[in-house]
Amino acid sequence: MSLVLENVSYIYGEGGLEETKALDNVSLSVPDHSFVGLVGHTGSGKSTLVQLMNGLIKPSHGRVLVDGFDLADKSKEVRERRKQVGLVFQYPEYQLFEETIAKDIAFGPKNQGLTDDEQIERVKEAMALVDLDYETWKDRSPFELSGGQKRRVAIAGIVAMRPRYLILDEPTAGLDPLGRDHILEAIYRLYQKSDMSIILVSHSMDDVARFANYMIVMNKGTKVTEGRTEEVFAQADLLESIHLGIPSVMALLRALKRNGMDVETNALNVDDACRIIEAALAKRKEGRSC
Ligand code: ADP
Ligand code: MG
Repeated sequence: MSLVLENVSYIYGEGGLEETKALDNVSLSVPDHSFVGLVGHTGSGKSTLVQLMNGLIKPSHGRVLVDGFDLADKSKEVRERRKQVGLVFQYPEYQLFEETIAKDIAFGPKNQGLTDDEQIERVKEAMALVDLDYETWKDRSPFELSGGQKRRVAIAGIVAMRPRYLILDEPTAGLDPLGRDHILEAIYRLYQKSDMSIILVSHSMDDVARFANYMIVMNKGTKVTEGRTEEVFAQADLLESIHLGIPSVMALLRALKRNGMDVETNALNVDDACRIIEAALAKRKEGRSC
């Protein structure tokens, strides 16, 4: 299973007065069963990139390959491959429309031609994965839910189609902290419980540091770098040069170092940062006692 972009460019309104080059010669490869953080400022091309990845739009130049199949081709194999890449749009709750939650989630599996029993099975499985109790919620209207719950229903609707790649375009935008945590934890559980790859479009370096094991960094339509999360964050100066920032724990460690403390600065979570600071303090004490 592979998802690869080869020299992809995308131009909106090509040839028109408002022509915009959204992506310029982007090549990348999503590793198997990875949790990818796709980061970059607004307008850097993230949403365009993920729409290309699931074949919703076609590259102006270059190719998007799933298992070696070019998504721009029209063969039956390509249609099957496209279904393997599920995309949850930004603000997906606007696309909920059925009268019950179960019907909404069953919409995709129904279109895939599954039987009623199979659809129910998929709905139960998807709801469990996003932490919504089937019996409690199946017959309720999606419009009775909180913002975060609506998003989880929308995600379940894509998960119910059992994609091998699940792409989420800024799934926490506009949610309160509790709703955000619920969504991110649900996505992480999904990743752990399946062999899916996740591609999470995010503005938050802290969220990416916490959950992603691979990163793709975009700036002004080009790919700045990609690689394992710790390798990308090790290039802190590069990230700061495009004003993207680094995870809070890393910023703290770098500030301590600037102020003379002898610390490693590559921690991505609070526990690791604590260990590093404790070790530095212990070393300092030893130094004094000598
Ligand atoms: P991001 O998701 O990182 O904010 P986008 O992929 O939405 O970036 O946008 C990349 C560039 O393409 C921006 O300059 C944006 O203004 C432009 N763009 C996005 N969608 C359209 C569209 N439908 N028509 C014209 N230009 C667009
Ligand atoms: Mg976007």
